[in-house]
Amino acid sequence: MAALTDVIDALETAYPPARAESWDAVGLVSGDPAQPVRKVLFAVDPVVVVVEEALEWGADLIVTHHPLYLRGTTTVAAGTPKGRVIRALIKNDIALYTAHTNADVANPGVSDALARAVGLTGDLVPLRPFPDDPGRGLGRIGELPSPMPLGDFAEQAAAGLPKTSWGIRVAGDPGRRVSRVAVSGGAGDSLLGTAAAAGVDVFLTADLRHHPASEFVEAGGPALIDAAHWATEWPWLDSAASMLASSGVTVETRVSATVTDAWTRGY
Ligand SMILES: [Zn+2]
Repeated sequence: MAALTDVIDALETAYPPARAESWDAVGLVSGDPAQPVRKVLFAVDPVVVVVEEALEWGADLIVTHHPLYLRGTTTVAAGTPKGRVIRALIKNDIALYTAHTNADVANPGVSDALARAVGLTGDLVPLRPFPDDPGRGLGRIGELPSPMPLGDFAEQAAAGLPKTSWGIRVAGDPGRRVSRVAVSGGAGDSLLGTAAAAGVDVFLTADLRHHPASEFVEAGGPALIDAAHWATEWPWLDSAASMLASSGVTVETRVSATVTDAWTRGY
């Protein structure tokens, strides 16, 4: 039977923690490296509904993309949401492990899975490669099998991503032909300039704000597609689960389909 430390070894080979951003908090959050692991649940967010799903399924380990604790805390009391999560995990002997910005920049990583989900084929290259390792880095650029109107690509992207309350939003002429596409899972604001310089036809990411998006489109840059943050990262879960299943570690894996995007309803 696999021990938690074996699962961690496989995860850290695929998503080296040394590649995480300096402000990030990745790795083991709760659990004993020696404890046995039979069932591993993959989810984007370490929130109460995901812990409930883990309990119901009998998971020994939850692997999430987002950290539970990113800043310091002085309490794990049940009166706080994060306290409820950590107490439930420890009381039920469920380990929690996070692969965040180290999974973003991995190859394959979060944006590879996003690129495939929205229909990009062929080779994918990082939008912002590491100077010392150009095969890894933030975002991905790829091609559509054939050029298509922006509106059609938006529909294809929406169909390829899991459903959320608001779907996706588009900035740009829906008739514009697009073939070269940049994507970045999660909040991709900081990559707008890089996407413009890369000469892509459209940049798909999440959490875009009015002013940066408006100025970007006014400047005649690529079209923009803004998807739900959770939806852009969710495709990676299947990729990570498949990686673990084929790593030689004997565990059962499951991807949580619980929608934990912050926005739960559109009007
Ligand atoms: Zn994220």
